[in-house]
Amino acid sequence: MNIAVIGTGYVGLVSGTCFADSGNNVICVDIDKEKVNNLGEGNIPIYEPGLQAIFERSTSEGRLTFTTDLPKAVRQSEIIFLCLPTPPGADGQADLSAVIKVAGQLGELIKDYKIIVNKSTVPVGTADRVEEVIASKTEVDFDVVSNPEFLREGAAVDDFRKPERVVVGTSSGHAAEVMRTLYEPFVRSGNPIIVMDRRSSELTKYAANSMLATKITFMNEMANVCERVGANVDNVRRGIGTDSRIGKRFIFAGIGYGGSCFPKDVQAIHYTAKQNGYDFQILDSVMKVNEQQKVSIVAKMEDYYGTDDFSGKTFGIWGLSFKPETDDIREAPSLYIAEALVKRGARLLAYDPEAVETFQEATTDEVNENTIYVRSQQEALKNVDALVICTEWNEFRRPTIDQFQNHMKESVIFDGRNLFDLDRARKTNIKYISVGRPSINVD
Ligand code: NAD
Repeated sequence: MNIAVIGTGYVGLVSGTCFADSGNNVICVDIDKEKVNNLGEGNIPIYEPGLQAIFERSTSEGRLTFTTDLPKAVRQSEIIFLCLPTPPGADGQADLSAVIKVAGQLGELIKDYKIIVNKSTVPVGTADRVEEVIASKTEVDFDVVSNPEFLREGAAVDDFRKPERVVVGTSSGHAAEVMRTLYEPFVRSGNPIIVMDRRSSELTKYAANSMLATKITFMNEMANVCERVGANVDNVRRGIGTDSRIGKRFIFAGIGYGGSCFPKDVQAIHYTAKQNGYDFQILDSVMKVNEQQKVSIVAKMEDYYGTDDFSGKTFGIWGLSFKPETDDIREAPSLYIAEALVKRGARLLAYDPEAVETFQEATTDEVNENTIYVRSQQEALKNVDALVICTEWNEFRRPTIDQFQNHMKESVIFDGRNLFDLDRARKTNIKYISVGRPSINVD
């Protein structure tokens, strides 16, 4: 099939590359000329495991191309995917300006039947709006389909190629059939393509993300209770995770969720509910608790030092990305923690395997001026007063906890991701403070 993908960010690039890899001709469009030029020269602007290899294969075989020329892409494609940003606008409402703008352009450009598929995360009713905008500018027949994307950054290629389900929202039998054919190579193992009405499809994406954010937040609150009653949230997690009604995933306590999806999607569905006369109370709490959780580690540091003045102290930071295996720092707890520490007078030695550049661009001048970005996790330990762990990159698990003492000025670790075993920490002199677990070697 001939496919256009409009918006070549995380979702557009991964979707376009995977569709090309399964034998389709894909033309990816973006308004960012530099991005398009770089992609044309073979440079992928994001870090995503497994993407490079299939990108190279598809571009070298001519099935995957990049352009800023929207009319050309529309002309040569039967299916047009919208993978456009929908950032939070005022009041948490999703900003649909990119989607509506492109819908208007499509209305003027389409000259024969097209299937327009929205992959962006959008509020209920957006497909109807897109349809109206296009229909107001053309007499040509077309279908607008909702096809929310569930890929996770850091595992995006795998998720796209082996989705647990594909959700398709359409009332058109023809469009549903085309979507089935397109996705068939990705669901050979029997996972379902679930066809439903467009509104339910649009809502499904928000329901999934807000359910997951709620699960994480529930466990973070349970961790806060554990700290107050002398219990260990890891044990509680093991105790409940084996219950198949609860499940083992998304119940790890930590310093809150971040990223480009959960925070904005929880806000957006909360807003939609409010606009429709419903107060989605549980999500109100989820948002409040997550804000507090992101900086809860700073409160623990204040408790430990007995002051909120960290002047003269240097802290090592391990992990800047919002989660492992990505360079994405959008809404990452590290942004809030670094800012809070620097505001309290601290200097930082920060290390991340992939996200240093994106962090430097996103953080404040004050943080950049007070941070040295180092090239290894060991360097981030040199002469520091304490180490603060913000992201659970696998390589951070590798050093055994007792190796830290050789490098640090004071052997103190504030671990926002519960990387280390408490029994092992007990056998050292390291003061180890984590989330929802007893502090070790601290009076
Ligand atoms: P992104 O910001 O990484 O990429 C969006 C791209 O669209 C950018 O390259 C931008 O230059 C381009 N763009 C903006 N306006 C344009 C226009 N008028 N014409 C052409 N290109 C334009 O965003 P993303 O992370 O890929 O997310 C896209 C959508 O998918 C969002 O709605 C998001 O919520 C959703 N989503 C994201 C993820 C994820 O993990 N990132 C997962 C599932 C769903």
